[in-house]
Amino acid sequence: MKNFILLGATGSIGSQTLDIIKKDKNFNLLGFSFFENVSRAKEIINEFKPKYVTMKDSSFKDEFNNFKDVTFFYGERGLLDLVKVEENATIINSIVGLAGLAPTVEAIKAKKDILLANKETLVCAGDLIKRLVKENKVNLIPIDSEHSAIMQCLKVGKKKEIKKIIITASGGSFRDLSRSELENVTLVDALRHPNWNMGKKITIDSSTMVNKGLEVIEAHYLFDVDYSKIETVIHKESIIHSMVEYKDNGIIAHLAVPDMHLPIMYAMYYPRHLKGFTQELDFSNLNLSFKKMDIKRFPMVEKAYYVGKAGGVLPLVYNTSNEVAVSLFTNGKIKYLDIEDIITKSIERFKDENIYDYDIDDLLEFDKKVRSFVLEKWS
Ligand code: NDP
Ligand code: MG
Repeated sequence: MKNFILLGATGSIGSQTLDIIKKDKNFNLLGFSFFENVSRAKEIINEFKPKYVTMKDSSFKDEFNNFKDVTFFYGERGLLDLVKVEENATIINSIVGLAGLAPTVEAIKAKKDILLANKETLVCAGDLIKRLVKENKVNLIPIDSEHSAIMQCLKVGKKKEIKKIIITASGGSFRDLSRSELENVTLVDALRHPNWNMGKKITIDSSTMVNKGLEVIEAHYLFDVDYSKIETVIHKESIIHSMVEYKDNGIIAHLAVPDMHLPIMYAMYYPRHLKGFTQELDFSNLNLSFKKMDIKRFPMVEKAYYVGKAGGVLPLVYNTSNEVAVSLFTNGKIKYLDIEDIITKSIERFKDENIYDYDIDDLLEFDKKVRSFVLEKWS
């Protein structure tokens, strides 16, 4: 029996992970976290009978009085307790945002392997996470489809033979709009992703191309490749999930119908490729298109390279200012283009206060500073 503890079980990645656990009799959901979706959490408890569950805070406590066999935890502390409950368990982190950082750090310190969808953790704390992974000898496997693809493409060559990593981008909901047409787009428009059905934040991040920016930084930390060797290209169809070009100019690509079950399964069964949920690719009607990333149209990609190369806590500034901006946009407090403005001004504000030698408390402290800066100015 293989035990999993699933953080963010009520989300988009969480529910696709549950599909996989349900299908394999040797997989057990030992515990899970949710934040506010009480009704879905009850369904998951009824179906999967986990031993441990944690949630946002104790205000939902009474809702779960009937579940006598479950041990409940609460709040930020609850996430840290959950990842440590039993020795024999793999952690899957599909929480959205920097809230995923502390439980990842705690899980690694508890010597648990991590399957990571929560890219924000690596972006904000890449150096720290890498050091902890090494010290504690655990495995960290990405779930993000591009990084799952790159990991597979990297198997055919040696690190010193890599010419570049090419990360594909669908272009998001507004890929066919010019910058002036972005002026008055709405939340409903932003949430209409052409290829993927995902959580709200990542759908908006895809449209601003911040998601690709985060993925460039994620790739840098995961694969230890210099930013000068990481490129992005627009590929509307989301069939090629990413590529690795070697020095002989040969390119290895990973193709599949866009379906997150595939990279989630690859992480859960690593390194095996087993029959799962994803449809076969139909070549009879397949057209693949590519377009150079236009950094004037998508300036947030260039900003990601800037903060990534600067290192220290600047990637956190990029990520956190975006997290706050997206939530302000989602709550109708700002216009769509303000998201970019907030990120740009936050980087400007904090670029001369960068710190390079940090621990998790320093990061969380900096995160608070950036949040207050954005909220004071824009809410
Ligand atoms: P969702 O919004 O669908 O789900 C987020 C999950 O996190 C939910 O379970 C939610 O709980 C929980 N959550 C929200 N806020 C907090 C918080 N402050 N503390 C603890 N838990 C919280 O997101 P996705 O599944 O789309 O994305 C999850 C992560 O995976 C993100 O980092 C995203 O970038 C990454 N990812 C997602 C992909 C996708 O296809 N969806 C693809 C590649 C990467 P509740 O709902 O109960 O409130
Ligand atoms: Mg991705």
